Amino acid sequence: MDAYSPWDSYPAAAHIDLKALAANAARLRAYAPNARHMGIVKADAYGHGRAQVATVLAENGYDILGAAQLSEALALRHELDAAGFNHVDIFSWMLPPRAPETIKRALAAGIEVSVSSVEQLRLLQQTQMPARVHLKVDTGMGRAGVEADQLPELVTELLRARGSGIETVAVWSHLARADETGPDAAAATAAQQQRFDAACEQVETMGLTGLTRHLAATSGIIWHPQLHYDMVRDGIGLYGLSPDPTHASSEQLGLQPVMTLTAQLSLVKPVRAGQTVSYGGTWVAPRDTWLAVVPLGYGDGIPRHASNAATVLVRGTNPIRARIVGRVCMDQFVVDLGPTPHAPAAMGDEVVLFSAGRQAAGAVDNCLSTGQVPSADDWARCSGTINYEIVTRVGARVPRHYSN
Ligand SMILES: *Cc1c(COP(=O)(O)O)cnc(C)c1O
Repeated sequence: MDAYSPWDSYPAAAHIDLKALAANAARLRAYAPNARHMGIVKADAYGHGRAQVATVLAENGYDILGAAQLSEALALRHELDAAGFNHVDIFSWMLPPRAPETIKRALAAGIEVSVSSVEQLRLLQQTQMPARVHLKVDTGMGRAGVEADQLPELVTELLRARGSGIETVAVWSHLARADETGPDAAAATAAQQQRFDAACEQVETMGLTGLTRHLAATSGIIWHPQLHYDMVRDGIGLYGLSPDPTHASSEQLGLQPVMTLTAQLSLVKPVRAGQTVSYGGTWVAPRDTWLAVVPLGYGDGIPRHASNAATVLVRGTNPIRARIVGRVCMDQFVVDLGPTPHAPAAMGDEVVLFSAGRQAAGAVDNCLSTGQVPSADDWARCSGTINYEIVTRVGARVPRHYSN
């Protein structure tokens, strides 16, 4: 038997610290001690690996997990059952409009689903399966959810559907600005709360009683304790990242980033002043210097917007905080190690793109400010995006290494 796998020696890896994940779960519980907690594992658990993350969450007391798409929910059901957690419920909130067979299988597997319209309810009814439904109301997100003026019609249909085994078990919504500070965001969140309360009351008055109410994701859990209701949805906080690092860093929130992304330098070479780097020649060496090639690119989820901006930590003889020079390519990018007489690092040396080592607090706009390890927050700032996107987009090509 040949157990050899080339992926074991892939020159990059996303290291997933499952101990940090468990600590974050405990931290979120402390923020919302009286609510049931749903662990959100959509998009391969924000890039961290769904099966492994789901197992740790189940081991740490989660009895319901959430995934966006029914396909992921079905895979999750399989993974949980295989790990011996068939008591853990699954909620999935996006119904595929042209996949009756998938909906049928999901309902057969007991997956709870969301309904925002009568049309969506019909998708469920066409399967002739019993179902557990979370009624989604739009309270200001302007995305999924039934509008207030169409709520009575949908509730009437849900009441009627009870006869065919479709049971409404929850009413829920999603906050749009719960991470922000300032009066506008506070007013928007307060308005959402008011609309949610009104919807819950109306639904109950019309006869759907005893429903679980859930509204808050991580930002609501942390910054809006009055919005915890019966259940909260733990997302980015589980992965140790702040919903808004300009508001409070991971560290300030007591969260530990779970993912560390590393690679091995595939080449170190000296170049002369005037050497241009990568497509378009957007960077020109201002002096003789040492360059290193990092074997990760946008094909691995490295943002092309990080070109000439983000920094990495090269663990050579001495650690070097090196900046990306030139454009990020599909499979590789180049960093400037600086002008030293001798090579400051060697082929094979480890480079850390981001890790738990430092979490940016506030508006630190100088990407080269410290010699410490860059964080996913740093990458987000340098790339004009959010930390959610940095970790979630780490490609399937990058092996995940798990530690307990
Ligand atoms: C992604 C998501 C969450 C989790 O949000 P975080 O900000 O990551 O905590 C919760 N609810 C819904 C509907 C989501 O799409």
